Amino acid sequence: MRPGEGADLVLRGATVLDPVAGIEGVHDVIVRGGRIAELAPPGGELDELEEIDAEGLHAFPAFFDPHVHLRTPGHEHKEDLETGSRSAAAGGYCGILAMANTDPTVSTPADIEALREAAREGACVPVGFLATVTRGMEGEELTEMGAIRDAGALGFSDDGLPIRSARILRRALQYQQLCGGTIALHEEDPELSGDGVMHEGPVSAALGLAGIPSISESTMIARDAAVAGYENARIHVQHLSAAESVEAVRAAKAAGVRISCEASPHHLCVTDEEVRSLDPRRFKMNPPLRSEADRQALIEGLRDGTIDCIATDHAPHAAEEKEVPFEQAAMGVTGLETAFAALHTNLVLPGVIDLGLLIERMAGGAAPFDLGRPTLAPGNEANVALCDLGAEWTVGEEGYESRSQNSWCADSKLTGRVLMTLAAGRVAYRLRSFSLGVAA
Ligand SMILES: [Zn+2]
Ligand SMILES: [Zn+2]
Repeated sequence: MRPGEGADLVLRGATVLDPVAGIEGVHDVIVRGGRIAELAPPGGELDELEEIDAEGLHAFPAFFDPHVHLRTPGHEHKEDLETGSRSAAAGGYCGILAMANTDPTVSTPADIEALREAAREGACVPVGFLATVTRGMEGEELTEMGAIRDAGALGFSDDGLPIRSARILRRALQYQQLCGGTIALHEEDPELSGDGVMHEGPVSAALGLAGIPSISESTMIARDAAVAGYENARIHVQHLSAAESVEAVRAAKAAGVRISCEASPHHLCVTDEEVRSLDPRRFKMNPPLRSEADRQALIEGLRDGTIDCIATDHAPHAAEEKEVPFEQAAMGVTGLETAFAALHTNLVLPGVIDLGLLIERMAGGAAPFDLGRPTLAPGNEANVALCDLGAEWTVGEEGYESRSQNSWCADSKLTGRVLMTLAAGRVAYRLRSFSLGVAA
């Protein structure tokens, strides 16, 4: 985070909703020196504060995404700290965690120090970094986890690849007991995934495309939960996509394993039916979009708390990696700028889940990494997403803050939009058309 003044402003007459803090009602949200000073009755006299007319708008605790790919170092033509963090701010996020599958990978204390320094200079929301579990993500040798933690890594992940060897995972979990830091796992059995490019089921059969079976994910979750349970270590399972996976996590939690997990907006909103379009820019990712039954199981997991949080797995790719036949295209979609709006449109408006649950899960990704949950309770650093729940917009029509265009909701009409984001006490983002309407 760049050093600077904390914001001094008031969101006049905002509808405030922070379900975890038990706050719900219309307030003047007063921010002084970058902290929530007071939730005051609307309309009071205030001096020396920028006034923002928030009547009819919602103020939520800003969101936290524990799983994004910022592509730096090595692939800055897809994304970097500046564009990626701006994309996050535009989506209402006040913090993100960057994955380590860069080029080269983030595998040493010096790598972590360099990224943290660069983020302090160039990111508009706080960015935390994970390092790889194994050197170069080769799955053979552990990184120097203790020294990497001392350099400030928030955890470890070989995301992009699973940790094939249960022996290596076990060793990593033993080190974690000494040095701390959560281990985040991309769960996939490469023997079962093979050269699959989409979910294995009737749609893959109809299209004649090689499938990735659901059990490719769930069997690895079950294995890793068993190893974590045996070592009494802590794991975070990334991007759950299948019903069997939700069941595996539910069973592990019931057995007392220290396990948390996330689901991504695209898996919660759409299914493999979309792949019939053969549009890899929007619908090719790993894990793949799965069946409607899987989607329903994820929603149930979100409701009952099996799924702790929503994570976008924001994965920018250059156009030339996507403008090729489906089988050859790169896996991954962007998601930071649309996560809230897509989930609001697809799950909240039709009454599938309620708004409070969505807001709670959008910030649920901080806890698995021992970070404080954003809250609107007075006295805390201001981390606020100001949203217009009635705003209708078409994704991409005004371009993207991200350097890449592979949004899974490109060209979709969504309802609900982030107008302004406060992150770590500072104004990190204002929608251009909104800032014009603001009385200074
Ligand atoms: Zn992954
Ligand atoms: Zn990922």
